[in-house]
Amino acid sequence: AALAQIEKYDPHVGAFLAVRGEKALDQAREIDRRRARGEKLGLLAGIPVAVKDNLCMEGEPTTCASRMLANFVPPYDATVVARLKAADAVIIGKTNLDEFAMGGSTETSAFQKTRNPWDLERIPGGSSGGAAACVAARMVPLSVGSDTGGSIRQPAALCGVTGLKPTYGRVSRYGLVAFASSLDQIGPLAQSVEDCALLLEVLAGHDPRDATSINRPVPPYRELVSQRPDAIKIGYVPEMLSDGVSPDVVRTMEETLNVFRSLGAEIREVALPHARYAVATYYIIACSEASSNLARYDGVHYGYRTDEKAMLAELAEERRRLQQEGNLAALDDLDTALVRLYRKTRAEGFGAEVKRRIMLGTYALSAGYYDAYYLKALKVRRLIRQDYDQAFERVDMILGPVTPAPAFRIGEKINDPLAMYLFDLFTVSANLAGIPALAFPAGLSTEGLPIGVQLQGPPLSEERLLQMGYLFQ
Ligand code: GLN
Repeated sequence: AALAQIEKYDPHVGAFLAVRGEKALDQAREIDRRRARGEKLGLLAGIPVAVKDNLCMEGEPTTCASRMLANFVPPYDATVVARLKAADAVIIGKTNLDEFAMGGSTETSAFQKTRNPWDLERIPGGSSGGAAACVAARMVPLSVGSDTGGSIRQPAALCGVTGLKPTYGRVSRYGLVAFASSLDQIGPLAQSVEDCALLLEVLAGHDPRDATSINRPVPPYRELVSQRPDAIKIGYVPEMLSDGVSPDVVRTMEETLNVFRSLGAEIREVALPHARYAVATYYIIACSEASSNLARYDGVHYGYRTDEKAMLAELAEERRRLQQEGNLAALDDLDTALVRLYRKTRAEGFGAEVKRRIMLGTYALSAGYYDAYYLKALKVRRLIRQDYDQAFERVDMILGPVTPAPAFRIGEKINDPLAMYLFDLFTVSANLAGIPALAFPAGLSTEGLPIGVQLQGPPLSEERLLQMGYLFQ
């Protein structure tokens, strides 16, 4: 059924970069046979799950939507992929994303645009745009995304599905192609809070292969999700409902607060005074880490390599010309073959947004600017975390918007990186603080587009966030 749905709708939506057709069917049939033999099956037995294409799966191309990794086939499974397999899920395909997960609209994918199933002229959000769109179009019930600064929650909100960014370290990052390692976290997208709980239970857990993974038992989220949490205090930040936020989002937030009030929650105002610096802080830290992480794509070890023959011929030709001209200074400066290989490989392999971030990050980390930018950003990051610590002394969780407005039109912001970055205003803080956040659909705009809200809680409060989300749904 999932494959039929993909065949019918994905030509319009473009959520998948690869579909495992026959291989997925074979796997499903094998699970059926095991079921018939009375074998004990895993939590996701036979359920089709889509996986974002920055997660390694043995023997399957893992492209990160980049020319740099267009032909990369990993020889190993990411821990989350291994866990899905162990739970007898059927991995049905790999979903589209912004190149290396850098973006908020899935428009920076080197291969294709993904469209929002609610309005095909609009972006599905990003960077896990494919992951959200395939759930929204009911191609699959579950998909796995990654969230560095909102990439699960933002597309979930814009596509009207539910998504959770877990506590940093709750889910192993082993086998996730690194973007910004101190912010990256893998999590579930699904049609409901209950399904997110189920998928999180499979994904979460300690992994010795990720040094930042938390060594704590995984609660049985699926069982706990329908339990009613007691005496919940929900905070909200009044300034988040003011300037620059669309009236539809403000109304949805107010309505959601009222629903929670009617469900017995106590609503309180809280302050996150440093939230206004979150976007600036995030982009300095994320780009710095990205510039370092992406240094590995050198055309030598693996991934794309420029046409060496053409490159060597070009270099020889330049040398000959400079010798003829007697231009010794330029001859001295001429690239070595290895430098030219590196330069051309990266020039051809990376798209514009990835290059922009490598340059920003390299600048922020360079001698002389490090203290002013990177170190300062780390300090503000600490203040943002402290704001949350203080707020969570007064409330159990904080309700906020996910995006300042519903999904925008394809092409609307692609030539304005700053406008694109500012759209991340409400999501990046949770990553900077390492806290969990659950985004779920809460209303519709006047144009009929989905609007999501998010509940953020202290580290490892996934269980409670899911319970409150469940109560709302
Ligand atoms: N939109 C944010 C960015 O462009 C977040 C991306 C993400 O979470 N992967 O960096």
